[in-house]
Amino acid sequence: MKIHEYQAKELFRKHGLPVPDGFVAFSADEAREVAQRLDSNTYVVKAQIHAGGRGKGGGVKVVSSLDEVYNTAKQMIGSKLITHQTGTEGKEVNKVLVEEGLGIASELYLGIVIDRAQEAPVVIASASGGMDIEEVAAKNPGAIKKEVVDLGQGLLGFQARNLAYALDLQGGAVGRFAKTVQALYRMFLALDCSMVEINPLVVTKDDRLIALDAKVSFDDNALFRHPELKDLIDPTEADPLELEAGKYNLNYIRLDGNIGCMVNGAGLAMATMDVIKLAGAEPANFLDVGGGASTDMIRNGFRIILEDPRVKGILINIFGGILRCDVLAQGVIEAAEKIGVGVPLIVRLEGTNVDKGREMLKNSGLNFTVADTILDAAEMVTKIVGRAS
Ligand code: GDP
Ligand code: MN
Repeated sequence: MKIHEYQAKELFRKHGLPVPDGFVAFSADEAREVAQRLDSNTYVVKAQIHAGGRGKGGGVKVVSSLDEVYNTAKQMIGSKLITHQTGTEGKEVNKVLVEEGLGIASELYLGIVIDRAQEAPVVIASASGGMDIEEVAAKNPGAIKKEVVDLGQGLLGFQARNLAYALDLQGGAVGRFAKTVQALYRMFLALDCSMVEINPLVVTKDDRLIALDAKVSFDDNALFRHPELKDLIDPTEADPLELEAGKYNLNYIRLDGNIGCMVNGAGLAMATMDVIKLAGAEPANFLDVGGGASTDMIRNGFRIILEDPRVKGILINIFGGILRCDVLAQGVIEAAEKIGVGVPLIVRLEGTNVDKGREMLKNSGLNFTVADTILDAAEMVTKIVGRAS
């Protein structure tokens, strides 16, 4: 689960991490109003969307009057912001964060993620903050410093100081940086975060250390331990098809390819995505309709795949166990009758009532191809939609 910068900074404040003074605003009038409350004569107006790269995309503006705050907010709110993380369609901005402007001496990077290979949290820091950290990692890996945390011991003081020295910090900055790293790690642990990132963590001209940006995401599997975090969900940021799928208890996750997948069982769904990739194509989604799916769920699942304009072919891979093949066929036929299937459909059905299911599909007038094995099926769709570039 992702949250906005202004929400992440609120959590930072609670956990003792220094952030600029600022307030969120939902309109240009409100932006001017909250700017008046700031003890500053420069202001920063920041578009609040769940994507980075806003600075380069025009979503972060430093201004020096209340009128400019108003005008900038007016222009941002309601507009679509395109950054390298939003895709070409961009994201609509519904709110802005208005902050005091700070004089920046240098921009650092500080983040914590889970390293699955190490099975531990790893703290990442760099003196090359403010820019795309992935680019720094690719071009100049030596500029990135890491400390792996032993979960039993926690992040130790010397590890935090090691990072500070590696960043060439001097004097009092070493202690301030170490304290910030410790506070960030405590928050990471306390809130079951999957990622926290401060880019940039700035050293100001008056030698303070302040989190200028804040990105936090939580481990969804631990959300039940933090019911209060649910309030931070922004429904306007959710993928509309994922929201729709959630209404019908379908496990649907949007992916980047163009082959729609309808599968029962998470394991079979994973295997199906693997063979699609093996055959040279890319899945458009993960969809596990579940073991005991009803005709209703199948119909809605199939409709959701059909409503995705990127889908150029559909692969149905069902092993009928508790979910019977005739129930599957019924749901697919009902959805197809309502919406129409404009893309090639490949079906692989096995298991309970398979003959009945195949018969129903055959008699439905639906245009589809039957595949005998999963690999056959994946190769067929790949042939039709072409290999991924
Ligand atoms: P991102 O591009 O989405 O990661 O947005 P950031 O919050 O990191 O802002 C991008 C850049 O805007 C930062 O790296 C800073 O250089 C600049 N910026 C943000 N806030 C201020 C500020 O208060 N003063 C100045 N001078 N620059 C700022
Ligand atoms: Mn940033």
